[in-house]
Parts: sequence; structure tokens; C-alpha cells
Amino acid sequence: MELWYTEQHTENVRFTIKVDRHLYSSQSEFQRIDIMESYEFGRFLTLDGCMMLTEKDEFIYHEMMVHIPMATNPKIQKVLVIGGGDGGAVRELCRYPNIQEIDLVEIDEMVVEACRLHLQQTACKLDDGRVQIFYEDGLKFIRRKENVYDLIIVDSTDPFGPGEGLFTREFYGNCYKALTDEGILVNQHESPYYKTYAQSLQKAHERIKGYFPITKLYNAHIPTYPSGNWVFGFASKTYDPIRDLNETAWDGLGIETEYYNTEIHKGCFALPNYVKRLLE
Ligand code: SAM
Repeated sequence: MELWYTEQHTENVRFTIKVDRHLYSSQSEFQRIDIMESYEFGRFLTLDGCMMLTEKDEFIYHEMMVHIPMATNPKIQKVLVIGGGDGGAVRELCRYPNIQEIDLVEIDEMVVEACRLHLQQTACKLDDGRVQIFYEDGLKFIRRKENVYDLIIVDSTDPFGPGEGLFTREFYGNCYKALTDEGILVNQHESPYYKTYAQSLQKAHERIKGYFPITKLYNAHIPTYPSGNWVFGFASKTYDPIRDLNETAWDGLGIETEYYNTEIHKGCFALPNYVKRLLE
């Protein structure tokens, strides 16, 4: 008997991978949580049936979310991660000795429990002494913060269900307020390829531009995400991710990566014309 996991990317497009074992399944107050073992992509986490990460390609996503801002401002000390309950972004952040505090705000404690049990590859640094986990809605948490964080990473689900509030003007305005004068915001910014994802991308970009003087998008290829062409948002009060990149300083840290390097850093902000038109 064959087992397959299928995700509906659009009404006419599906993504299917062969599954060896179904390791974990639960229903939290927020979503359905599953972890399965696949032949091609190793273990993978889905929430309400949507692909979140796989062991095989999560390095691309988590390295690009973290090393782009960290190479832009090497002085970052206090970081907030909203979402990211799998721990992948936290794992990459913990590789920087100059980071002193990482607040992880994950609405669903059962996601963290599931990943601690079955996805140690991403959850391995959740017990680092610098990490504090808050199980609450990031939209509410951020309202209480002012001039605190040097970097905010929004590693959220897509803009529906619990993740919807993390794509609103109110949320981005509160992120701006919670950041220091040198603050950087990086967010999972959807995709330009399929219509519904492109609309989410446009809305998020337009809302972030309303607060931040410097806003740029960068892209990476993530095989298991809809269309594979995924985009991240970089927004800042002062730093330009290309002008302020100090390649020698980052290379000098000796951080071994599988995807990110300072050449990719400079290249990933180059956008195809159809994406540029989306942003006009
Ligand atoms: N890389 C994935 C992607 O791009 O879709 C995201 C991975 S991570 C598992 C997403 C996390 O965001 C989930 O664990 C979910 O529970 C969390 N989340 C969703 N809405 C949230 C909110 N309002 N506050 C805090 N965490 C939230």
C-alpha cells in the first residue's frame, strides 16, 4: 500500500510526495499538526495540511531568513522571532556569539512539542540559554514592546488562520515601534508566482512600505513551497542590505552554511521584471 502527502497549491496544481511513515498527528486549539517521514525530503511538518518545512530543504529557508540581516548588521544583540516554532530560525541565530537574547513567540505550544519530539534537526537549539519562548499570539505580544529589538524575524504561516494578523498594518506598525533605531524586520513574504500568493505578497509589501524607509525583497528557491520561488521581505530604519553588507566581517565569523554566502546575499535582491511590476 502506498502513502502519499498532497498539498493543493492552486485549484489546478497539486504537490505530492511519497510518505514512508506518519510519525505524529494532533489537533491543537489552533491547527492540525502532522509530522511525516518521506522518501525524498526526509521528515516534514505540515500545519492544517500545508507544508511548513522538510529536513531536506529547510536549510535554504532558515539560512536566508537569518544570515541576510545578520550579515547586514553584525552588531545585532536582541532578536525577536514570531512564529518559527520548529526552531529552525532560532538554530541559525544561535550561531552568532554576539547575539545575547532571542525571544521566540509561538502561538501554538504543541508545534514546539511535536518538533522537539520528531524534528530535532530544527528544534536542537530551543534550549540555548539565550532563548526564551512565549506561547502567545505575536500580534498581541508585539503591542507591549517599544525600542527593544535589533532584529525581528516573522516566520509565520500564510495569511489565514492564526497567521492572518501577522500580515496587517497594525502588526507592521508595532514591529516598527518595537525595533531600535537600527532595527531590521525580515518576514516570510510569500511568493510572486501563483495569484493568491502574489496578492498576499503585494499587500504585505505595500503595508510594510508604509512604515519603513528601506524595504527590499529577496528571493530563494525552496523546492517544497508553492512554485518553489519564495520571497522574503527586508525592511529597515537605517540599514541597506547591499550597501551595508560587510563581506569580510561576515566571512571572518567562519560560520559554515549550506546555502547562504555573501555572493548570494548581493544577488538575491535582484528581482525578475514580473516581480518588479508586482511591486509598482
Ligand atoms: N516556514 C513556514 C512557512 O513559511 O510557512 C513557517 C514555519 S513555522 C512552523 C510557522 C509558525 O507560525 C507555526 O508554528 C504557527 O503556529 C505560528 N504562528 C501562526 N500564527 C501565529 C501568531 N499569530 N503568533 C505566533 N505564532 C504564530
